[in-house]
Amino acid sequence: MSTSRAKAFEEVLDREPKFMEEPKRRVSEYFGEFTFHLDKMRECLTEEAYKVVKSAVEHGTPVDRTHADQIATAMKDWAISQGATHYTHWFQPLTGSTAEKHDGFFKPIGPGKAIERFEGDLLVQQEPDASSFPHGGIRNTFEARGYTAWDPTSPAFVIGKTLCIPTVFISYTGEALDYKMPLLKALQAVGNAAKDVCQYFDKNVTNVKPTLGWEQEYFLIDSALFNARPDLVLTGRAVFGHAPAKGQQLDDHYFGSIPERATAFMKEFEYESHLLGIPVTTRHNEVAPNQFECAPMFEEVNVANDHNLLLMDVMEKVARKHNFRVLLHEKPFAGINGSGKHNNWSLGTNTGVNLLQPGKNPKSNMQFLTFFINTIKAIHDNADLLRASIASASNDHRLGANEAPPAIISVFIGTQLTKMLDDLEKNIKAGKMTPEDKTELKLSIGKIPELLLDNTDRNRTSPFAFTGNKFEFRAVGSSANCAQAMTVLNTIVANQLIEFKKHVDTQIAQGEKKDEAILRELQVLIKESKKIRFEGNGYSEEWVKEAAKRGLSNLKDTPRALDVWTQKATKKLFNGLDILNEVEIEARHEIELENYILKLQIEGRVIGDLAVNHIIPAAIEYQNVLLENVEGLISVLGEKEGRKAATMQINNIKAISRHVNELNDLVKQMIEERKKARDMENTRDKAYAYCDNVKTMFDDIRYHADKLEIMVDDDMWPLPKLRELLFTK
Ligand code: ADP
Ligand code: MG
Repeated sequence: MSTSRAKAFEEVLDREPKFMEEPKRRVSEYFGEFTFHLDKMRECLTEEAYKVVKSAVEHGTPVDRTHADQIATAMKDWAISQGATHYTHWFQPLTGSTAEKHDGFFKPIGPGKAIERFEGDLLVQQEPDASSFPHGGIRNTFEARGYTAWDPTSPAFVIGKTLCIPTVFISYTGEALDYKMPLLKALQAVGNAAKDVCQYFDKNVTNVKPTLGWEQEYFLIDSALFNARPDLVLTGRAVFGHAPAKGQQLDDHYFGSIPERATAFMKEFEYESHLLGIPVTTRHNEVAPNQFECAPMFEEVNVANDHNLLLMDVMEKVARKHNFRVLLHEKPFAGINGSGKHNNWSLGTNTGVNLLQPGKNPKSNMQFLTFFINTIKAIHDNADLLRASIASASNDHRLGANEAPPAIISVFIGTQLTKMLDDLEKNIKAGKMTPEDKTELKLSIGKIPELLLDNTDRNRTSPFAFTGNKFEFRAVGSSANCAQAMTVLNTIVANQLIEFKKHVDTQIAQGEKKDEAILRELQVLIKESKKIRFEGNGYSEEWVKEAAKRGLSNLKDTPRALDVWTQKATKKLFNGLDILNEVEIEARHEIELENYILKLQIEGRVIGDLAVNHIIPAAIEYQNVLLENVEGLISVLGEKEGRKAATMQINNIKAISRHVNELNDLVKQMIEERKKARDMENTRDKAYAYCDNVKTMFDDIRYHADKLEIMVDDDMWPLPKLRELLFTK
């Protein structure tokens, strides 16, 4: 954690009024109190400045210098009134977390005198010392630094004594060094493309914005137990630990009430979230013991994503006050469910229509089908990119394992819509359609019930499922920045919608009626994207076989999943829509590989250290107790009788030696492999080596360590066991 993040941690802990002292206000009274949102700006800006900022928020227009000064002053005065003394540009470097650099508002203006100052240029642009943020070779460390620039579409907020201003992070040569910049571009692209397609159905649509409602899963672990597990502290997951006698087989946690201590934590972090304008609404237990989920009302994607990042920070901070630690890792414990972050996604218009919600009549249903089918086609054509967007060392442990979506990307749509698409595929006739054909089609299209939401079948095993009025991308990892997945999803849908419109317009230009042209094009898309649709059990072995037959990819690990970034088609797609250029794509690929390598390197070290310094010594200590016992028995009972009495002890002594030696040998081998991988020059080769030669040894090492855990005297075992971590309330 950077020192600035550590500082922000302390500040939240210090913040007044404390939750417990909060008078009984309703949420509506304090929701968004610590954010500088449009309504607040209206109160303190001139009409003109307000218009400028409103247009920036709603349409992405630029803010000129004069107005920026006025906005900065108003923002500063508001922040100071909330107790802020410092400000920071809050940004999302490619490390995966958020970063801040704090500066004071005050400026000395003579001996013993200072004023509070914050002007437009400080709001709009800042230079953090960025030399240590990853940039994958875009700019070497000796060159000019990057700068951060204000994103007016996401409200500034106050945490503790600091005004945080959401920003993008760009190099001086203009390349994006963060997650937010390409996300904003992708959102713009899909918004424009969707707006253009909407013109076929409703001329009043002038603005379309993608929406995101994430569901955040996490584990809550007692701080003291957490701190006694170096693996949790350093890697976020238990690299060792025998499965507890009771796992999640009873499902009693899912249906149970939330333990009191966890509820106290949740109430407080929800309170803090509400102050920051994060619309958290639901909370419940998840399937695994000590696993929980929270979800907000959906919002426009960029704001929703900032809110998710903020929430992850707030959760961690508040958890410490309750002597908990939050585990956001995708797979902290082998053998029980991991954690995901479902990304519910749709497109909303300025006319208040959800484009993925079936409508009241054939016309609005045609619009629904258009966006629905184009999305499926986009997933079909770009499944590997979508897979790459969720790839990480930690998510690799989860995908395809125990109750998690497989690494195979497929789309689930439910029986009703499957039938609808099958009908469309069959019933759209070649050549001119007769009036009867058309009536029949219209009738059929009109039949999609408006409230699919309540009667869509649920398939929890699909990585990308239609859930009645939105798609739910379930393979996103719990610790991920959703921006990565959202950038890819919105880009591929934008591209598909543009292609769709081109084809339809061509047909119209050739004299085809609009409705028929749309229907025919949809029919083509249904046919072409058929193999990505799967309604069965995504967790099953049969699906793995079936998917292979269909020619769908099953990219099980991150280095292989990331390869798609270097393909020509990927570069063409992102460059064509002006979302990421070739340099940025190469850089991102490199950074992701580096992140992967670093994560595995750390895991490998922790595994080695724990085995050699904790587990083997404990096993030998216990073995000595057994040896003493055997010697004692022999000395009292004589050689033959004594040995007979010590049968179990002697067997255990042998077994311990066997496991200790094998454990030690495997660790040595793993260290050798790690050294070989470490010395490789090429980043991709290195990542592959960590994946194929280092990581593959982790499970074998664990096997012996976990065997020892169940043999050694509980009092002598140096690590809290999974049973304790998972069932301490
Ligand atoms: P569940 O999937 O658990 O039954 P819901 O259907 O109510 O619950 O919604 C789950 C998530 O989907 C919530 O975070 C919600 O905000 C989000 N969501 C609902 N509608 C949309 C939408 N149009 N766009 C994006 N997210 C949405
Ligand atoms: Mg869900």
